[in-house]
Amino acid sequence: MLESPPTNPWQLLNLLGTGLVIHAPDTSISYINPAALKMLRLTINKALGKVVSDPHWRFIDANGNPLPLADYPVNQIINTKMAIKDFVVGILDSTSDIPVWVRVAGAPELNESNEVTQVVVTFIEISPPKNGFSFEEIVNMANDVVVVTEADPIDPPGPKIVYVNQSFTNLTGYSSKEVLGKDPRFLQGDDVDKEELKKLKESLIQGRDHRATVLNYSKTGRAYWLDMNIVPLRNWAGKVTHFAAIERDISDIKRTEQTLRSHALHDPLTGLLNRRGLDIQSEILNSRDESRSMSVSLIVLDIDHFKRINDSWGHEAGDEVLVAVSALMKKAMRADDLVSRVGGEEFLIILPDTELTTAERLRIEVMNMEVRIKNGKAIKLTVSMGVSQKLEVDEVIKDAVRRADGALYEAKMSGRNRVVKAT
Ligand code: GH3
Ligand code: MG
Ligand code: MG
Repeated sequence: MLESPPTNPWQLLNLLGTGLVIHAPDTSISYINPAALKMLRLTINKALGKVVSDPHWRFIDANGNPLPLADYPVNQIINTKMAIKDFVVGILDSTSDIPVWVRVAGAPELNESNEVTQVVVTFIEISPPKNGFSFEEIVNMANDVVVVTEADPIDPPGPKIVYVNQSFTNLTGYSSKEVLGKDPRFLQGDDVDKEELKKLKESLIQGRDHRATVLNYSKTGRAYWLDMNIVPLRNWAGKVTHFAAIERDISDIKRTEQTLRSHALHDPLTGLLNRRGLDIQSEILNSRDESRSMSVSLIVLDIDHFKRINDSWGHEAGDEVLVAVSALMKKAMRADDLVSRVGGEEFLIILPDTELTTAERLRIEVMNMEVRIKNGKAIKLTVSMGVSQKLEVDEVIKDAVRRADGALYEAKMSGRNRVVKAT
């Protein structure tokens, strides 16, 4: 440690950004450094010897009201013989009506008789919010999540978080301390939409806004959906230095949407796809290039004499049979096969090219099954099936279904409990 400053201390005071004024006990200025001259809009010649009551300047408080002379920092120190700290005043002078706002600290120097010999006052210029209120406070209180990151580097290790508001903490469970300096991508999971991220990155590189729906995870691992708007922030020279993400939690909306979509596409009794769900799924299948040339099999399955089951055991028992047959089909088919309930007791299965074996296996499994209904009774049943294949590249599934329906009709006509392949 150095015992004393390496150079003339007065010279150091000249270089200091903090304003420094030394007052004599009558408040007249005996020393003033250049920073203080600038803040007080004075030249050295005019400053020296001036007392604080000099009409050259006026002090105002934070409300813009004139500060009583007794409350001037120097007078406070002289009157109380105590130091002051963090006292904010605005300084006005005859040359301008825009105040210079300063934060003042100061202390008296006392002799042995406890008399003030001089007063040292320091002040630093502060710029209070232009509007008299703080935008930071508003952003912090906003319901939407706000995250600000540095602009670089976009690629890993990624841009660092420099600000998060209170809503971020409320939603994610992470305090600002825990996330500052981290890449916001740590909030994503393995299931992140890579395509969406690519688009986002593209926009950011080009300095454009980007709106996206993304899935993130909270500290406890809870998934939440965000409607996110990322905007580039530019510095005075127009360079993008930061990105601000304004995010809204849309998990509730997403969940409702998903439920509605699922209800619209599935049969509530069996959970299988309904007609609409099957149409959409087979549309997706058809639109895939590789599946256009791929031949798929269709099985139309109808429960034999289902009306008799209803009539003998009641409608509710019929429902239980429908549920049991559906469960058996789901189990017998692979995950990619489309299993749907297209009518009361009629089902349509679309699956990658198979021989009759799948349908035949299913028929035997149903035949061997016993459905135990609520009253304890075991019901046996059989099914008939028509099978067709979408053979030509251009044949639409609809046409193949028509052929399978024809085959099913044949199966019924020729005695039921059988599989007929369409020609
Ligand atoms: P087939 O062997 O010729 O197919 O005879 P089937 O009795 O199975 O055929 P039919 O078309 O005559 O009767 C189908 C019955 O299915 C009539 C209808 O009341 C019943 N059904 C339709 N939807 C439901 C349902 O959701 N639950 C119950 N329990 N029955 C239904
Ligand atoms: Mg039937
Ligand atoms: Mg039927």
